[in-house]
Amino acid sequence: KKRDGKNGALLYDPLFQDTTRQRAEIEQDIEEALRSDWFEAYFQPIIDLGDGHVTGYEALMRLNHPLKGLLPPCDIIRIAEETGAIGRIGNRVFEKALANLVALTRASGDDRAYLAVNFSPLQLEPALPMLLTALTARHGIDPQRLVIEITEATLLHDNPQIRMVLDEFSRIGCRIALDDFGTGYSSLSYLSRFPVDIVKIDQSFIRSLASGEAELRNKSRMLVEGITAISHKMECSVTAEGVETTEQRDLLREFGVDCGQGYLFARPQPVEQLIAAYDIKRKV
Ligand code: C2E
Ligand code: CA
Ligand code: CA
Ligand code: CA
Repeated sequence: KKRDGKNGALLYDPLFQDTTRQRAEIEQDIEEALRSDWFEAYFQPIIDLGDGHVTGYEALMRLNHPLKGLLPPCDIIRIAEETGAIGRIGNRVFEKALANLVALTRASGDDRAYLAVNFSPLQLEPALPMLLTALTARHGIDPQRLVIEITEATLLHDNPQIRMVLDEFSRIGCRIALDDFGTGYSSLSYLSRFPVDIVKIDQSFIRSLASGEAELRNKSRMLVEGITAISHKMECSVTAEGVETTEQRDLLREFGVDCGQGYLFARPQPVEQLIAAYDIKRKV
């Protein structure tokens, strides 16, 4: 290994060169995907644990590469946040999600199910609420059907611009969901300081509810029950992420968690698949 070059980069380190090559490749894939329209919005249903009906759908970005297949979002988003492409990707995915919601509404007859969309901090620009208002109007979707999902990291520095954008979203009737709840630095304080409507308990808590060491299991249960009680006191509804087993679902019900999302109910999927399922249900 040898340290050299403008940025003190490691030259001759195969690992390093590999990652830069991978990175460049992903950057290229992103640009190509924007040009060739390869971005899609997969939908994952969110289920009311009370009566089992679908309360909404979370839109999850996929890059559908014709040669490489479906690329999951994590690397793409991390790199797009660094290069600044995240805004263009986000707008594209949001438009796809709106079109999907229109088609799904037609198939299901349910015009109340909400659409939850993930936003990175960099996307929360002052112009965003106006843009989303214009796009929803163009698709004939009520902005009250939108849920803006942000993570705790977005609120960490209490940026006045982000606060303004969130307040504007609340004003136009969008709900705000706090994603990955419990993994950040001061999760609970965000509930009192920002206009949060929905708390999404991170899947790590759900995973340890019914597996692993007894002590951890008990503590996770107390945490989920406690988070739910506090969220309800703060007039937030609670959704559990990553629900994979009936045992987890039953515990979540017992703790008063409102909604669940996870492979137990449905995987994220192309909207055509959800529509086909509604069509079958209607025929039987
Ligand atoms: P997230 O918002 O926490 O989304 C939930 C993730 O959990 C999704 O991963 C979903 O596929 C996965 N998941 C759902 N149910 C289960 C389950 O039962 N078990 C397990 N193990 N996983 C489950 P995905 O689709 O790979 O997305 C990863 C992250 O990428 C998301 O985490 C979100 O932070 C980000 N993301 C996805 N789409 C977008 C987007 O359009 N814009 C932005 N800014 N971020 C996005
Ligand atoms: Ca999310
Ligand atoms: Ca999450
Ligand atoms: Ca997550």
